[in-house]
Amino acid sequence: MPDCPDCIALDGANAVVSPHANLLLHSDAGINFGATATGHVAYYICNACGAKWERIRARSEPEAVWRHTDKPLD
Ligand SMILES: [Zn+2]
Repeated sequence: MPDCPDCIALDGANAVVSPHANLLLHSDAGINFGATATGHVAYYICNACGAKWERIRARSEPEAVWRHTDKPLD
């Protein structure tokens, strides 16, 4: 998987960490965690290496981390 140094550094970082300078926001959406917990998921594409990322932000998911995604992002 092509990864630039910034993406390698981000892999597994907590989702509170800000996106690095080459990450472009692709899209975001609201998501539900069970009946009452909600949050957002954002998808980013790296301008340097093309890596695709998923970042979940939700109060109920404090352990969420930056993850690679297989979701097709055009
Ligand atoms: Zn990258």
